[in-house]
Amino acid sequence: MVIGMEQKTELLTDVQKYFPVKEFRYSQREIIEQILNGRDVMAVLPTGAGKSLCYQYPAMKLPGITLVVSPLIALMQDQTTHLLKQNIPAACLNSEVVGKERRKIMQDALEGKCKILYLSPERLISPKFVRFAKQLNISLLVIDEAHCISLWGYDFRPGYVKIPRFFQMTGCRPPIAAFTATATEYIKNDVIRLLQMKEPYVVNEGYDRTNLTLSVKHCRTTMVKYRSIYAFLRSHPKDCGIIYCSLVEHVDRVYEKLKRKNYRVSRYYAELEEEEKKKNFLAFLNGENQIMVATNAFGMGIDKADIRFVLHFDIARDPEGYYQEVGRAGRDGAPAECVLFYQPSDVKSLFGMLQAGIQELHYEDEMNRIIADLAKRRLQAMIQYAEMGADKDSAELSDWIRRYFKEDDPGKGHSDIVRIQEQFLNRIREIDVLYTNETKVSKEIRKGNYCCGEVCTVQVSREGGKKWTVDFILDQTLDYFDLMVADAVYTLWCWGKTKVYPKNILTLLSGDENATMKPTQKTKEGNDKRLCIAESLEKMSRCRIRIDWSKGKIGRGIVDEAFVPVLEGNFLPLKKDGKNGYRVLDTPPLYQYAELTNGQFFTVPKNLLEVSVNGKKLPHSIENMKLKHFLARRLILSSPVRAQYSGKQMSTIIRFISEKQSRKGMFEILDLDWTENPYLKKRQWNTRVEKIVGILEYYKAQNKLAYYELLRGETELGRDEVLGVKLEYYQVPNI
Ligand code: ADP
Ligand code: MG
Repeated sequence: MVIGMEQKTELLTDVQKYFPVKEFRYSQREIIEQILNGRDVMAVLPTGAGKSLCYQYPAMKLPGITLVVSPLIALMQDQTTHLLKQNIPAACLNSEVVGKERRKIMQDALEGKCKILYLSPERLISPKFVRFAKQLNISLLVIDEAHCISLWGYDFRPGYVKIPRFFQMTGCRPPIAAFTATATEYIKNDVIRLLQMKEPYVVNEGYDRTNLTLSVKHCRTTMVKYRSIYAFLRSHPKDCGIIYCSLVEHVDRVYEKLKRKNYRVSRYYAELEEEEKKKNFLAFLNGENQIMVATNAFGMGIDKADIRFVLHFDIARDPEGYYQEVGRAGRDGAPAECVLFYQPSDVKSLFGMLQAGIQELHYEDEMNRIIADLAKRRLQAMIQYAEMGADKDSAELSDWIRRYFKEDDPGKGHSDIVRIQEQFLNRIREIDVLYTNETKVSKEIRKGNYCCGEVCTVQVSREGGKKWTVDFILDQTLDYFDLMVADAVYTLWCWGKTKVYPKNILTLLSGDENATMKPTQKTKEGNDKRLCIAESLEKMSRCRIRIDWSKGKIGRGIVDEAFVPVLEGNFLPLKKDGKNGYRVLDTPPLYQYAELTNGQFFTVPKNLLEVSVNGKKLPHSIENMKLKHFLARRLILSSPVRAQYSGKQMSTIIRFISEKQSRKGMFEILDLDWTENPYLKKRQWNTRVEKIVGILEYYKAQNKLAYYELLRGETELGRDEVLGVKLEYYQVPNI
């Protein structure tokens, strides 16, 4: 489509109805047009170019809502506040928005009253949000700071890799617009590939900052460095700017020295108290202080247009970082100066720092090796820039950077990088649970691996697949039935039911709508289902999980211990005696980010529960329900995803009694009582084995299971008693 002059001014005039701009900058016009045409867009534009406008204006024009994935809460809040000031209906969903406020936002989004919604990538694919998103009319999905999706980028964030899951989970694939300021050619292509963009419109103007004057100054000693900086500041008495240092100690030293010279100066690094960070940041933002001395913790999302200089007291770790940092200068388009003060003797300590940083990585060896290599190579490039830069002018230095961004190739010297990257990313994608420590723990409990009353250790994954262990213990004795009930409550809640009745829970747990509440004949009170369900609900509402993650502690400000309720107090009996049902007000915290496989929530699919043994339906006694439910869950949980990828036959072994600690048997977890009488005990045992065989035979006949085998071994009941079963199936169970 050829756009005539008239249309050209028309678009600008219309944009001006919403945003106070005189003219378009960079490729804003083209990007806006492409987005309005429904095409995917990948745009690399410098910091401050005005990327937000490129999606905010189309968001106003498109019929539905625009979702914006953003990595930082602060960024989301800034943008939202900014938009609201201009009367543009925007909001953000994050952990700080709760209760009424959150409900209002969701209501507004449903009613079309909110046009732009900011959220984190993790939230985007959380079951709760997905359920909500299915009801929305989504016109556009924006990925801000899109470089975070690349493993080799400046700021890898595993949550970004999972974004495409959103399409599968909701069955909806709106056009995607991805934006970033820092992407080498390689990373730009990574973004396009990993977001699964379709023939995107690509804009790459990331390295063109004509208003920045770059220079490098060699300093023989630290003293010379200081003197040069003082001289620079003297010749720019009115300007405000940032001085970047690589170490906290350097920040403090530079800060103190400038303060003594009566400069109005702030400082910033990750280790400062939140209060102070905020205060210092604001003092710089509103011009009260003129100079900010900071580590690279000071950066993303600083919307201060009139930064006139960015000085580097130490060199950055890599050209990507350097370019990000100098990019903060001159966002208003007016000239700005960027000087790198380079002392060759610093290099040694830089490599030392790099080494220390790499040792803290917890990836697998191969990944560690590549990342370490990459970091070294990038630092070397940065050093090269500094060494050759002293007698180069700004244009030559810009050229050098442009070339670097074009040519940097993480795969250099690693022929296997593609394979390793794919393996790594697949693993991240495969994980059905969002790795908050809590959800990993909850998964462990629901799998039935946990033995109540004992401290249990799970391996959790921190961001980026680094491994960690966490201890947890439940403060109530829960059995498998309690957890079945909790799962059912959550499922009902996910289906939009805010009131739950024991009868509905029973229906879910038995897979049978006609299951009755009446105790089965022959049974003791322990088998009164209504009573059992009510008791479980009560227990679950009191139960807390103590999680101790001191072992996994990194950085500062992380709590060592947390108590996580299983079903929080938002869970109220409708009537005092609880007989009539319960009200669920909010998602139980443990389930907020829990797994979502094949569209299933937590209950076992009905057709796995409708078990007939010898042509007769297995009665719905509590014991039978536990056994059916347990075996069915095992079948679902035993890595169907991996089986699907590899196409191989998978097998899993359930040990009903483990040889080493016979106490920890699965029967124990299922909390099936044994009598003390050895003769009766043996009979009970045999009946249970019969039932298990019956259930497994049924699954086999239904093609849900390829093969099973009873594993015999020695128990206290004698030699050759069953210890466990081995399940095998070919692929994802047909559920
Ligand atoms: P970034 O590209 O870094 O995301 P922003 O979208 O935050 O940049 O925009 C930076 C600033 O530039 C904002 O204050 C925005 O209002 C302003 N801006 C965006 N487009 C234009 C334009 N065409 N003319 C003038 N100012 C603009
Ligand atoms: Mg931005």
